[in-house]
Amino acid sequence: MPILEVKNLKKYFPIKKGLLGNKLSLVKAVDDVSFSIEKGETLGLVGESGCGKTTTGRTLIKLYEPTSGEILFNGKNIANLSSKEMLPYRRKMQMIFQDPYASLDSRMTVGDIVGEAIDIHKLMGPKDKEERVNYLLNKVGLNKDHASRYPHEFSGGQRQRIGIARSLAVEPEFIVCDEPISALDVSIQAQVVNMLEELQSDLGLTYLFIAHDLSMVKHISNKIGVMYLGKMVELSPSRELYKTPLHPYTQALLSSIPIPDPKMAAKNKRIMLEGETPSPIDPAPGCRFKNRCKFAKPICGDIEPILKDMGNGHCVACHLY
Ligand code: SF4
Repeated sequence: MPILEVKNLKKYFPIKKGLLGNKLSLVKAVDDVSFSIEKGETLGLVGESGCGKTTTGRTLIKLYEPTSGEILFNGKNIANLSSKEMLPYRRKMQMIFQDPYASLDSRMTVGDIVGEAIDIHKLMGPKDKEERVNYLLNKVGLNKDHASRYPHEFSGGQRQRIGIARSLAVEPEFIVCDEPISALDVSIQAQVVNMLEELQSDLGLTYLFIAHDLSMVKHISNKIGVMYLGKMVELSPSRELYKTPLHPYTQALLSSIPIPDPKMAAKNKRIMLEGETPSPIDPAPGCRFKNRCKFAKPICGDIEPILKDMGNGHCVACHLY
């Protein structure tokens, strides 16, 4: 059984329009998205800014209330649980935030930041908590002397390690990693990804790993989902996706990954997408990628393509298939 199964998840944000502010429009940030993640695996979720990947992650752990759909965590639908009913699940589902500067309270010591969730969930007394905090700092490559310091005394990479230690404090089973390396120097990114992989195998964690391009999720993901304007347009086992990308948007994303070897790079034909991403406010019918797709046909403007399994769990939403 998957640890997490998402069925037809929608998250719409209402906005008021018109002079009196009473005409409602909807930003369809996540629109009918379904996927599942097996225990101990990583699903990479990619797409450009505004595609709904972060909103999906936040809705899964109920930082946002879903508009509709099911979120089955270990078989239990948590989509409509109240804040009180969610409390035991909050322990099991944690988040690592993108910005290691804004996500840590500068007035708290590292020890207090990492141990805060232990206090909230009343898991142990002060002595045991101190030991647990020291253990966690050690686990992410810091040490117990760092517990009494403040976030501003650390580099970006070290701050992200503190954020990771904080997410581990309450022994979660599932972690949403929301672009955890995109704000870091390139030299630090690989270290953080390797550490997340080690923690995953040591602690049996399951990740949803959100990133804005496919190069960042390549090594850590078992499966990859590609989102465009609130829709899942392709979902596939990782290797299969890199070998045979099916959706025109995925093909464009893959072609934009820089290749270090100049000879190989010369052979790579970069697909340049033209036009702007359309607004997610009340999107037009049909395929949401149609304005930028060089393969668009009349049917693409009328009928929205649904995600179809093309074999081996490789699913794509496109009228070309
Ligand atoms: Fe392009 Fe049509 Fe496929 Fe959309 S459905 S990606 S417009 S070919």
